[in-house]
Amino acid sequence: MLFIMRFPIFASGSNPPSPDSLPIIYSPDYNMSVLGIEHFHPFDTKKYAKAYRYLIEQKAVQLEQIYSPSRPSDEELLLVHTPEYLASIRHSSTIAKIVEIPALRFIPAPILRHGILEPMRLATGGTILGARLALRYGWAINLSGGYHHAKADKGSGFCVFADVPIAIRALWKEHPDLKVLIVDLDAHQGNGNSTILGNDPRVAIFDMYNGEIFPGDIEAQAGVKYKVPLQSHTGTLAYLDSLKQRLPQAIEEHAPGLIVYNAGTDVFVGDPLGNLSITEQGIIDRDNYVMSTAFAKKTPILMVLSGGYTKKSGAIIGKSITSFLESRHK
Ligand SMILES: [Zn+2]
Repeated sequence: MLFIMRFPIFASGSNPPSPDSLPIIYSPDYNMSVLGIEHFHPFDTKKYAKAYRYLIEQKAVQLEQIYSPSRPSDEELLLVHTPEYLASIRHSSTIAKIVEIPALRFIPAPILRHGILEPMRLATGGTILGARLALRYGWAINLSGGYHHAKADKGSGFCVFADVPIAIRALWKEHPDLKVLIVDLDAHQGNGNSTILGNDPRVAIFDMYNGEIFPGDIEAQAGVKYKVPLQSHTGTLAYLDSLKQRLPQAIEEHAPGLIVYNAGTDVFVGDPLGNLSITEQGIIDRDNYVMSTAFAKKTPILMVLSGGYTKKSGAIIGKSITSFLESRHK
């Protein structure tokens, strides 16, 4: 059992966190596999392993920095989800709808639970652990999670469990006054997170997304304090400009005790779903900017991976993390 300090040690006046203390949360069981599911969906179900392998092969992180998540309890899932919803995902038809592969409704539910739901559930445990470790060490990265379309009573867009809201509510049991800023830079609007947490004054959401694609959830936008909708093919320069113009103000105004960074790589040029046309270097610069802005404000940050749908996504994540670790060594 990890000893978790009750209050953040990364408090005002302390030094920025050291690269050697970056906790990485990962399990080989994050990776999904159901009878070749990857052939039916653009989602690269092995991207978590690819990102992890990159970090280890490049010696960017040491094995001592790797933390294993544990499976969250039903009580933890019920911090957000309704019992009816959790009962509904026992059925193949519901799972097939959420992951947008209609053919899966013919596959026995136990196979889908093992191949899809359990990896997502474990990733939720990783986000809960990551949030606690971020408060302890100043930063942490869960090499999965960021399922930002899941609502309390409904999953969609490949998102079954609302891992970030669950982790925040779990943290509130220990730190009831903790203010959180969700910085959502996945290409899609994070409509699940804003529907669940948008009315809670302890949370503010900064969401920069392609306003021309899924989910187009107008109702959920009410819960987003800092909305930055973009057009398709925005491109790297304009994208980074928008981020740099808007993010510092959000951090300044909300003054969070924790930032949760939804670092979706589906903004990547050529991604079949995101359509924002951001280069690999643009994603590396983006992640670097968000992390260093959090450090400059002495705010603990948890990064989760969220979407990213090309076969290169795992390596881009590995390169990005390696890049900002190197920058901290300098
Ligand atoms: Zn996305």
